[in-house]
Amino acid sequence: MRYDLLIKSGTVVDPSQGLNAPKDIALTAGKVSAVEDSIPADQAMEVLDATGLIVTPGLIDLHVHAYWGACTYGLEPDVSNLALGVTTALDAGSAGALTFRGFRRYTIERAQTRLFALLNISAMGIVSPDIGELEYLKWADVELAIEAGLANRDYVKGVKARLGRQILGENSDVEVLTRAIEAAEGFGGFVMVHVGNNPTALPELMAMLRPGDVVTHAYHGFEDGVLEESGAVLEGMKAAQERGVVLDVGHGAGSFSFRAAQKALSNGVWPDTISTDISTLSIEGPVYDFATTLTKFMRLGMSLEEVVRRSTHNPARALGMDGVLGTLRVGAEGDVTVLREEEGRFSLADRLSTMTRMGPTRWEPGTTLESSQRLVHVNTVKGGVLYRPWEG
Ligand SMILES: [Zn+2]
Repeated sequence: MRYDLLIKSGTVVDPSQGLNAPKDIALTAGKVSAVEDSIPADQAMEVLDATGLIVTPGLIDLHVHAYWGACTYGLEPDVSNLALGVTTALDAGSAGALTFRGFRRYTIERAQTRLFALLNISAMGIVSPDIGELEYLKWADVELAIEAGLANRDYVKGVKARLGRQILGENSDVEVLTRAIEAAEGFGGFVMVHVGNNPTALPELMAMLRPGDVVTHAYHGFEDGVLEESGAVLEGMKAAQERGVVLDVGHGAGSFSFRAAQKALSNGVWPDTISTDISTLSIEGPVYDFATTLTKFMRLGMSLEEVVRRSTHNPARALGMDGVLGTLRVGAEGDVTVLREEEGRFSLADRLSTMTRMGPTRWEPGTTLESSQRLVHVNTVKGGVLYRPWEG
């Protein structure tokens, strides 16, 4: 047999190659080995019929929480990522320098999901929503972070800094971000900042970021974000994006607002990457899964190609893995997601109305939009293997 797995008769949407057409995809030895108009079924050991379905590069979620049992937000990665169509996920700071070894050994190395991580600038990582990891600044130890980053460079892509008041206590966001950048520079990674309810105005914080650094929760509904009335925040976001700063969605339980996203999109400030911030707080809604998050951006007017670009090729570039992940080019990792586009009546919520924790008083109320279509996850192929957990 020439090929291990053949995904036949689907519509391949791969923005990395400008592809949106019926194609057959063959995988061999864990890699993409052919992309052609028609590949005979008898040339493959196994055939997956994708007639009527959408075939994309394996989805990449740039903001998840996968440190189950140590971080209260943490989910089992295969249940919350791979089983839901996400082949590669970036854990956004659940572990810090002092808690990373357990994360590496017991989660990252055992998961079938391709997991990467950002080290929290706080050496304890995220433990609980009730204890801000930066309330005591001694935890933001640059040397420890550099040491852990260097020791785990195969998985660690950068540093996470959560700059909300509920995490910082009385401490300075500028001081924490300065330390996070210093740590990231110490091992050659990028910084992801969590914004919303920050002591310092967002344009000032974004001006500190370097090209390749990421702003997550870009469309939160707090009063200090996109919804701020003077337009200075939107202008700051535009300027940062033009410099190469990555704007990421990081949906989460309370960090996404349809009104903020709508305002940003209509002002030309589109996200570079769409991500879920899937966690124990958001998996039972409003996030549910990556396909639902992508559906929301289609409801806001993005095309299928535009959402797929922001969930495959763009996050691969943010991870420094362009050409390896997020693409179905021959020779790339054999990661593929199969989706179905359904017609009907669907309700999409931006955040839970009961979600009050961590919120300042002036906060956008939760909104629901009706949609006549949605994306649904059907199959996941990672490293050339069709994910069938029930087969063991
Ligand atoms: Zn998060």
